[in-house]
Amino acid sequence: MKQILIGLSESSAVCDRLAPIRTALESGAYTELLIHLYSSFTEPEFCWHIARQVKDCLPDALIAGALSAGEIMDGKLMPPGSVLLSALLFETSHIVVRRYDDIKKKEDLAGRRICEDIDAFKGLKAVELLLPGTEMDTRMLFSEISNCSREVQVFGGYAGGPSMHSEVHFVFDDKGASSNALLAVFYAGEDLFIDIDRTLGWEPLGMPFRVTRAAGNHLIELDGRPAAEIYEKYLQIDLTKDGSTPSSLEFPLLVRQQKEEHLRSTIRIEPDGSIDMHGFVTEGTEIYITYGNPSGIVEKINQRLEKIRAFRPDVILLYSCLVRKAFWEDFVNMEMEPFASLASTGGFHTWGEVIREEGSVIEHNVTLLSIAMREGLPRKDLLPPVKVDDTVLRGQASLLRRLTSLIYTTMENLRRANEDLSEMNRKLTFMAEHDALTGLYNRGKTEELISSGLEEAEKTSCPLSLLMVDVDHFKYVNDTFGHETGDLVLRTIANLLQICAEHAFHTQYRKPDQLVESSFLGDHLPKVGRWGGEEFFILLPECSSERAMEIAELVRSEVEKHSFPGAGQVTVSLGVITAHEPQKRNAVLTKVDDALYKAKNRGRNCVVKASWPEIQEDGGALYS
Ligand code: GH3
Ligand code: MG
Ligand code: MG
Repeated sequence: MKQILIGLSESSAVCDRLAPIRTALESGAYTELLIHLYSSFTEPEFCWHIARQVKDCLPDALIAGALSAGEIMDGKLMPPGSVLLSALLFETSHIVVRRYDDIKKKEDLAGRRICEDIDAFKGLKAVELLLPGTEMDTRMLFSEISNCSREVQVFGGYAGGPSMHSEVHFVFDDKGASSNALLAVFYAGEDLFIDIDRTLGWEPLGMPFRVTRAAGNHLIELDGRPAAEIYEKYLQIDLTKDGSTPSSLEFPLLVRQQKEEHLRSTIRIEPDGSIDMHGFVTEGTEIYITYGNPSGIVEKINQRLEKIRAFRPDVILLYSCLVRKAFWEDFVNMEMEPFASLASTGGFHTWGEVIREEGSVIEHNVTLLSIAMREGLPRKDLLPPVKVDDTVLRGQASLLRRLTSLIYTTMENLRRANEDLSEMNRKLTFMAEHDALTGLYNRGKTEELISSGLEEAEKTSCPLSLLMVDVDHFKYVNDTFGHETGDLVLRTIANLLQICAEHAFHTQYRKPDQLVESSFLGDHLPKVGRWGGEEFFILLPECSSERAMEIAELVRSEVEKHSFPGAGQVTVSLGVITAHEPQKRNAVLTKVDDALYKAKNRGRNCVVKASWPEIQEDGGALYS
């Protein structure tokens, strides 16, 4: 297949200009002729007139025309006020152009009809949609088309005029121009290969905003404030002034919903501070301001060029967003021209790009769609590598490039600094709550945990048990084996306490009917803290008095059994208390300390349950 590109600047003598196409057809090599017309003349009559002349001159031609925000011929933007005629000549493929009229307000119906046509089409490889997208509810349309055969690729562009403020959007063919019609080009053929992808290169800037109010393409509020304020606040763009829309256009919004990301550019700022967007926005999604990062864009385009080079196309169509044209200004050819050194490249600047991704037909903004086509096996030899010539970025456009790369590096640095800060915060919090020698919770945190444990016990009516542990004759350990050995003994005991607490938890010390889902949350886990010196606490939430006594006994015997390096046998005494009902922390602590004191008096290496004289059988505050 091949592409013949012809630039038309006037509507007279069109037929004469089509001589190269007629010559190509006379060779007999081509069976199908598809003519795309991309026009930045915004008068529908004019466009229709051109299409009719083409049809009169080449009666077998299939015609699909779109109003354009700029025509791309051989990878270069044509001067304003042009019409680009791209003739695609196919050798074996079967092409059909269908026009679907009367779509507005019946988008779902139109979508279903297109879907049926796609499914009925034998050997269909791709469908191209040219539509005045901003005029319709494309969400309905695309969701219906997404239901059709998944093997069929979909691509396309929104028709719209060259000015950012243009309110004219239409497609056209030899039957007329319409802002209420869609043109679909069906590409079929066993030997037809089509590679479509979109390239972006815009990056999110700063923190996200949440869409708190939106309706269709109308973005009303972000974080509860009029949406347009983000442009005023962050970019100093005065949106009340005429002509401010183009600047906001260069900073489109990135809409993030679950895994999906779409860029949405702004069409118009309303007096109430809401924004008309190029595509729909959904309440609850996150939005970022984005900016074009020239080096990022160049890198992405280079990757795409490499892929197309390997594909070895016969022709390339470029459907590029008008935001890119506005962003690059005089340098827009930089990102398009290299495509033309791979194959004949034609296309237009769109008001929205359409591509099917993982089955869904999606509308994008700010992307550059490149559609590479080939019939049969690649016949050319491997094409030479092509890269974007970005020397201009180092010259005239260097300020732009330097500023955006400054933003990028600053944001990267900020992100890293933030990560460091969170890490430091994490460490500080850990240090503030933990004991340096044993790694257990420190006194302050243990007090806090006991208080919250008692509150929780009161709320849930689940008992909280506390084990107070004191090392026996620890002074003797220090005096006999040295302070360092003493430290080691404390660390070892801390470890044993933790093992016992975990073991107790995993053997489910709570009653089966207490094993509710929430019990597995962190707050219900046993906790071990160092109270000071050689004294420790084990907190056992949702643990009965009986089970607490068993666990205390386990701790006592585990320590007794353990042989401490450098110190031999060491024992501990324990006081145990179980709180069932509202209790003051200090009262609980005094009682458990009393119990521990009793254990010492009973000869150490034993467990004593706290006695609570006021205990009542029907549910006293504490029981012993
Ligand atoms: P009892 O059986 O009555 O509890 O006797 P004890 O010797 O364990 O009690 P006492 O309160 O008399 O002694 C506790 C000792 O613990 C005194 C102190 O030097 C020592 N100690 C406190 N903190 C540390 C520490 O961090 N490391 C070491 N090695 N010793 C400590
Ligand atoms: Mg002590
Ligand atoms: Mg002691």
